[in-house]
Amino acid sequence: MKSHTNCQNCHSPRRPIKARGLCAVCFTWQRRIDRHVARVERAKSDPGKYYLKYDASSLPLRIDKAKRVLEEFRWREEGLLTDSTDYARLEDLVRILADSCRPELDVSTYRLMERMSPQSRRLMYEVLLAVVENIPKLDPILHDGWGRWFQDRTFSPEGEEQRRAGRSLQKAYWDSVRQGDAPVQNQHGRTADSLLRQALAPKKSPS
Ligand SMILES: [Zn+2]
Repeated sequence: MKSHTNCQNCHSPRRPIKARGLCAVCFTWQRRIDRHVARVERAKSDPGKYYLKYDASSLPLRIDKAKRVLEEFRWREEGLLTDSTDYARLEDLVRILADSCRPELDVSTYRLMERMSPQSRRLMYEVLLAVVENIPKLDPILHDGWGRWFQDRTFSPEGEEQRRAGRSLQKAYWDSVRQGDAPVQNQHGRTADSLLRQALAPKKSPS
């Protein structure tokens, strides 16, 4: 398959290109990023009008999550673009399945995968990926877990920088409220404080 027919994000030749060089799956998430980024810019330019409307305090997290999902699609596809699969990669995929149906897998199951040849693991990887791709979840489950990602993000310099930017945007919004230029509740009756609390609350995310 020629490279120009592969998705520019996940590099998969399996799915047809939807738009902007991306397959339908990647395009959906890229479009989500673009929409959130545009909303952040609008909220910055007019906090009084858009901060509550777009729940701007949660947008940086949503953008980062969508970026991480695109990265995950690349990871999943890497496992198909090879003739042999190592133990750790297959174990990650099995763990996604185990997490989504909550069984405690016996150690002997993992030993079975260790005993397989890399070529057998590759075939099993393809079978299991087809199942994983059809797990009905709002956000795809990461092979190394959303919990770890949230923790790393929280304690990263980028996370601190985003919190600083978030505080400054929130201050600009409250300045607009004080000047009578902004509503204190959105269309659902939520205030900036309650939205922020919701965005910062520990998420029950798939791990
Ligand atoms: Zn793709």
